[in-house]
Amino acid sequence: EAKQSGRGKWLVFDESMRDELIRRMEVENDLRRSLEENRLVLHYQPITELKSGKLIGFEALVRWIHPRRGMIWPTEFIEISEKTGLIVPLGLWVLRQACWQMRLWQERFPVTPPLMISVNISPRQLEEADFSEQVKKILEETGLPPSSLRLEITEHTVVQRSGALIEALDSLRMLGVQLYIDDFGTGYSSLGYLDRLPVDAIKIDRSFVSNLGKAKSSQGVVQAIIQLAHELNIEVVAEGVETFEQHRELKRLQCEFMQGFYISEPLDVHAVERFIAGRSGFVFGAD
Ligand code: C2E
Ligand code: MG
Ligand code: MG
Ligand code: MG
Repeated sequence: EAKQSGRGKWLVFDESMRDELIRRMEVENDLRRSLEENRLVLHYQPITELKSGKLIGFEALVRWIHPRRGMIWPTEFIEISEKTGLIVPLGLWVLRQACWQMRLWQERFPVTPPLMISVNISPRQLEEADFSEQVKKILEETGLPPSSLRLEITEHTVVQRSGALIEALDSLRMLGVQLYIDDFGTGYSSLGYLDRLPVDAIKIDRSFVSNLGKAKSSQGVVQAIIQLAHELNIEVVAEGVETFEQHRELKRLQCEFMQGFYISEPLDVHAVERFIAGRSGFVFGAD
């Protein structure tokens, strides 16, 4: 339904738009309160080195424990919190919590090099002028060495590479933090832009990995991505590895690291501690 307003302008405001707006406001209010009430939790997914099988660290993944709806996955609330700006305080909470937790684990489970933590950062966070200052503060407060922190930024974010973005990435890297490009291969970018970005590693998107061993073409794509990354001195993490065959292929293609249900799904804090304890011989034995 369209309504004519004052000076002959048409205001288009249909019911579905109104419903969407109401839903977004509800989620935002709920989420804002949940953040205050500490209802967000982090799960941690192990990342291992393909060559040795060694555990090298974890990716922190946020979950929302809703008072009525139970556990809600980030795909249901990250986008909304980006639109409303709530991702800024939410993201800082995630970062602080993840750094603090990893600092504790580094003490409890000392290995060389120390376990690292990977944290997802949304583009909206990078637009904050003082973002790298905030990261620095969190590292100081928690005592986590900067080299143990990896920030994941999706390829979609970096494809719109503005001067401001590059500046933000540079100042993060100056802190000694590593930068990863997440969901690599889904951003429709040319591979050539990689050498102009201050990046330490890329994470090959699950969509390519899941076709490994099924479609011949995806093997070629994965191989090309890995080779290019290596020529640029960039390491490669494969995400969404679910089967032995995918694991074997990636190892053959000299991909460095992997993450996926084949090793473990994301785990809560207690399950992480059981995971480390239960596999210590295997994980830390092969040097
Ligand atoms: P992502 O960063 O690409 O994270 C990987 C996602 O794939 C996770 O979903 C993980 O549970 C899932 N996954 C891992 N291994 C496998 C596998 O072998 N098979 C399959 N089918 N899935 C696998 P999750 O936890 O639902 O997170 C979804 C996305 O939400 C993340 O994608 C990330 O973009 C975003 N996200 C999660 N936590 C945060 C956060 O704290 N901040 C921001 N900005 N985004 C976050
Ligand atoms: Mg990620
Ligand atoms: Mg990813
Ligand atoms: Mg992904």
